[in-house]
Amino acid sequence: FALSNTTIMAQRKTISQKVDSLLELMTLEEKVGQMNQYSGFWDATGPAPKVGNAAIKYEHLKKGWVGSMLNVKGVETVRELQKLAVEESRLGIPMIFGFDVIHGYKTIAPIPLAEAASWDMEAIENSAKIAADEASAVGINWTFAPMVDISRDARWGRVMEGGGEDTYLGSEIAKARIKGFQGNDLSQPNTIAACAKHFAAYGFAESGREYNTVDIGTSTLYNAVLPPFHAAVNSDVKTVMNGFNLLNGVPVTGSSFLQRDILKGKWGFEGFVISDWASISELVPHGYAKDLDHASELAANAGSDMDMESWAYITHLVKNVREGKVSEDKINEAVRRILTVKFELGLFDDPYRYCNEQREQERLYHKDHKAGVLEMAKKSIVLLKNEGNLLPISKNQPKIAVIGELANDSNSPLGSWRLGSDDNTAVSVLEGFKKYSNNITYAKGPKIFNPDANFLNEIQVNETDTTGMEEAVNLAKQSDVVIMVLGEHGFQSGEARSRTQLGLPGLQLDLLKEVYKVNQNIVLILMNGRPLTITWEAENIPAILETWQLGSQTGNAIGDVVFGEYNPSGKLPMTFPRSIGQVPIYYNHYSTGRADLEPNVFWSHYSDEKNEPLFPFGYGLSYTTFDYSDLEIDTSNQENIQVSVTVTNTGKIEGEEVVQLYIHDKIASVTRPVKELKGFQKISLAPNNSKKVIFTLTNKELGFFNNDYEFVVEPGEFDVMVGTNSQGGLHSSFIKK
Ligand code: BGC
Repeated sequence: FALSNTTIMAQRKTISQKVDSLLELMTLEEKVGQMNQYSGFWDATGPAPKVGNAAIKYEHLKKGWVGSMLNVKGVETVRELQKLAVEESRLGIPMIFGFDVIHGYKTIAPIPLAEAASWDMEAIENSAKIAADEASAVGINWTFAPMVDISRDARWGRVMEGGGEDTYLGSEIAKARIKGFQGNDLSQPNTIAACAKHFAAYGFAESGREYNTVDIGTSTLYNAVLPPFHAAVNSDVKTVMNGFNLLNGVPVTGSSFLQRDILKGKWGFEGFVISDWASISELVPHGYAKDLDHASELAANAGSDMDMESWAYITHLVKNVREGKVSEDKINEAVRRILTVKFELGLFDDPYRYCNEQREQERLYHKDHKAGVLEMAKKSIVLLKNEGNLLPISKNQPKIAVIGELANDSNSPLGSWRLGSDDNTAVSVLEGFKKYSNNITYAKGPKIFNPDANFLNEIQVNETDTTGMEEAVNLAKQSDVVIMVLGEHGFQSGEARSRTQLGLPGLQLDLLKEVYKVNQNIVLILMNGRPLTITWEAENIPAILETWQLGSQTGNAIGDVVFGEYNPSGKLPMTFPRSIGQVPIYYNHYSTGRADLEPNVFWSHYSDEKNEPLFPFGYGLSYTTFDYSDLEIDTSNQENIQVSVTVTNTGKIEGEEVVQLYIHDKIASVTRPVKELKGFQKISLAPNNSKKVIFTLTNKELGFFNNDYEFVVEPGEFDVMVGTNSQGGLHSSFIKK
């Protein structure tokens, strides 16, 4: 049940009184201890650690010098560690247990980028709710998600963790995920605190190289990067994580401008800021702090409330306060924020409330969770091409070949960032297809990926060994239709997984081309964690499905779509480039000063590639077709401008369509992008049925941030486009007075 706002306000008031009285009892060491987070160091079954860092952590825990731990697995261990904090330390303050629950704990949902392709906020919220339900059943009460970093660069491996390239869509997704994790009442034992990360601009790492410098202008920062974080704060996200990157010369972990002026100042964020892993210590190699001692001073003053594994606060902050380099007020403020979240989670009422073996037994891999992630997975699939309606395939098709190593893989489809999961627990494509057909023959083709690939080691792509190629080609020759399952390994995207090439890794394109020579009746199923430059594939292969990494239910979801049980409706949340040289490429770019010139050598272009992407943002087909008509704009109420359009299902089966609204503010004091998404609605239509879809444009959609970070709404002419993707639709315009 939902708590009313007045109840929440009343609760907050009493919490703040409790926090104040607790603070009064705390020594400076204990306060700094609350600002210290350690990674798991002991599984609590064996004897207590006696040597090394683990032993130090153990002693600190008993002294009440550890406010939080991360990466602790299982109820039993959480309980034992919590016991040390609660029963051995002087004040018995419970710890908060954090974990990267990015797209599920045991039951794995699609990677976040895939979920973004659903444009279905209810489904995304539900997916986060499932993740929270399982994580909270194993003792976790805080997830380091959602990642709300906007990125326009598919070379950056972490695009798989986010909502894609667009700020409007990204903000909606941020809200849905936070609601799913935190629910309406954080004190319920099946909800967990969320964390919007990485504050800010990590997704703009230069040349897509992980951990690289970020140097962006104010307009991009204010209009593209910050809004999803602001939306998260407005959704009452309990924590925010800073990051590893520099932003315009200042490491974000040491940035008072971001953490104090904007986040806690302008936006009034009341939760706490956690550093990224050892990001306080990284202030030293960044050339910002002279040593760890100095780093602790800079980070605390800048508003980083909790130190994740830098050991900077626990070793230096008390001294820095005593020397007057950091005021005790700042420490009190940080601790107040941390304790407040612990109270809100109900940890002071019962520190073991998340340690419930019965829930652990019942909730992990619950059948409702399987059903939920299956639904999410189907919604995440994007139909990129379907020439001659090759898809869906008839269940009675006599000879179906399935080719590609990934088709028989039950690990890779779980994707990156699933630290709680069990390996090899995805339904593979081959397994999923069995439900539909007994006429399937499989050939693996050349081995591409390292079987021991994991979160840390390299994936080692085979570039030369063609063993398996001939067998695959022979099979294709004898088959009616060939389903090629190709793409990236699940661990080829994620943190520290930048790439300079965005094609199919290894020999996969060679394999596809060899098969194409003998049989062109090909359905290409792509599995990848980022946009790929599949230009040859898109020009030659008749049917292509983008399936990303869909998690536990991968094979079942793909089977349902391939054999026509489910009509796909996903839309790309990131632009697919034609070639790597176009990157960064994104739909909401600016016009150049040469936009009006006829194409000739002097316009803004490449001499060896088109400007257009391969597939634009918002693109995706269906097994049915939709027609758009009657675009109308009603400006009679200037505060609520109404844009309406009629959408008709002109095909033969029922389908879902994501109706997208884009605007262009034609003349502004700070130039606006050529188009910007400002609304979308997902509708379902039976064949021959129509629906009038109405959007409302208020000042919120029509305004923008100027370079002084002021939100302004300027009168003038706006173009409007409503359509099926960022490139195709009906156009009109209106005057905003
Ligand atoms: C990542 C964070 C993550 C943290 C804890 C860091 O390397 O950047 O996103 O939450 O590790 O695992």
